[in-house]
Amino acid sequence: MTKDIFYGPDFELLSKQDPEISSVLLSELKRQQTNLQLIASENFTSRAVLATLGSTLSNKYAEGYPGKRYYGGCEEVDKAEYLAIERAKSLFGADHANVQPHSGASANIAVYQAFTKPGDTVLAMSLPHGGHLTHGSPVNFSGKWFNVVSYGVRQDTELIDYDELRDLAIANKPKMICSGATAYPSLVDFEKVRAICDEVGAIMWVDAAHFIGLVAGKAIPSPVPYADVVSFTTHKVLRGPRGGMILAKEAHAAAIDKAVFPGMQGGPIMSAVAGKAVALKECATPEYQKYAKDVIVNAQALCTALEGEGMRAVSGGTQTHLALIDIRGTGVNGKVADERCGHAGIVLNKNSIPFDPEKPGITSGIRVGTPATTTQGMGVPEMQTIASLISRAIRSEDPAVLAGIKSEVHALTSKFPIYNA
Ligand SMILES: *Cc1c(COP(=O)(O)O)cnc(C)c1O
Repeated sequence: MTKDIFYGPDFELLSKQDPEISSVLLSELKRQQTNLQLIASENFTSRAVLATLGSTLSNKYAEGYPGKRYYGGCEEVDKAEYLAIERAKSLFGADHANVQPHSGASANIAVYQAFTKPGDTVLAMSLPHGGHLTHGSPVNFSGKWFNVVSYGVRQDTELIDYDELRDLAIANKPKMICSGATAYPSLVDFEKVRAICDEVGAIMWVDAAHFIGLVAGKAIPSPVPYADVVSFTTHKVLRGPRGGMILAKEAHAAAIDKAVFPGMQGGPIMSAVAGKAVALKECATPEYQKYAKDVIVNAQALCTALEGEGMRAVSGGTQTHLALIDIRGTGVNGKVADERCGHAGIVLNKNSIPFDPEKPGITSGIRVGTPATTTQGMGVPEMQTIASLISRAIRSEDPAVLAGIKSEVHALTSKFPIYNA
């Protein structure tokens, strides 16, 4: 532990000044190092990205855009934002990039604002079938301020029903059609979605929060050539700092920039903007491209191994970094499985499956993802071990057995250390 990155001079200063918070930092680091991190939206960002986040760029107000700021003294942070924009455009082949959104949800607020007015109709993936809160949940601004019509997956294939999507588009004439989700293990057919958007005159919006890292690593097809606008988070498979980003066609550049600032945010978090630049440079390397492919290979191996343990992969498997697993075969619901795995040091989440007979608080499924374990260097043999650990944890109600699995988890994670010097 003495070689952990937080034992630098600044950490010693913090621990003297604020022992309560410094102990949170330390125990969270230990939690990340010792447990199995299978939350599909989480990753371990690089030490270089962490360094920018802990920098004095955090002090700087920079409302506006590089070269057009409302505050003085922006000449240094401007360089960071220009680099982030240029790297995003070049990595994704995009006309325009806005790197300022504070999060994925903020980026989505800007997309709505750029293309729609309150009350307009938007077509998006249904939440119980994998859509995000910002795709029309009644408790979210999107569901309160917009008429969001939902499309889903077919019951037999558990894949997006493009015929239903087209029928709904023709019947409802949406201003905008959103594709992308938080719990959809398959690829989206962007060409088909583009054709439907063209047929009804809708803006094509892709919320690529989950899978953009796989696009960056050239492991799956890109939505950028097809979509009018692509929004995403920078902290999931992409492995950057927490934050959001928007790519758009040139024709929409001004509308997107105005929607982000002054439409939705004040000053950008310049430490995060610089962190996005660092992450985008990392994403352009052959190492990252190999990582992105390995993430998918690992997700597929985990899926197959879980099927071997008597659990069913929704939509027949995965083509991405995440798998949605129907665990009804174990006789245990998602909520209990999540809790038991937690006691065994396996961090994952319960998740509704399409047409789930259980309530959203209970669920019949779990969602597992491989971005974090792959960053740690785990491969197919470890995925097989993990599947067996998950299966044993889900099927056990004995705290002693769960504690025993936890020590096996610790033995495994200790072989793949993170944030050690
Ligand atoms: C994660 C996610 C978001 C929201 O990102 P936050 O940074 O948590 O606000 C939006 N859309 C989709 C599809 C996501 O998966």
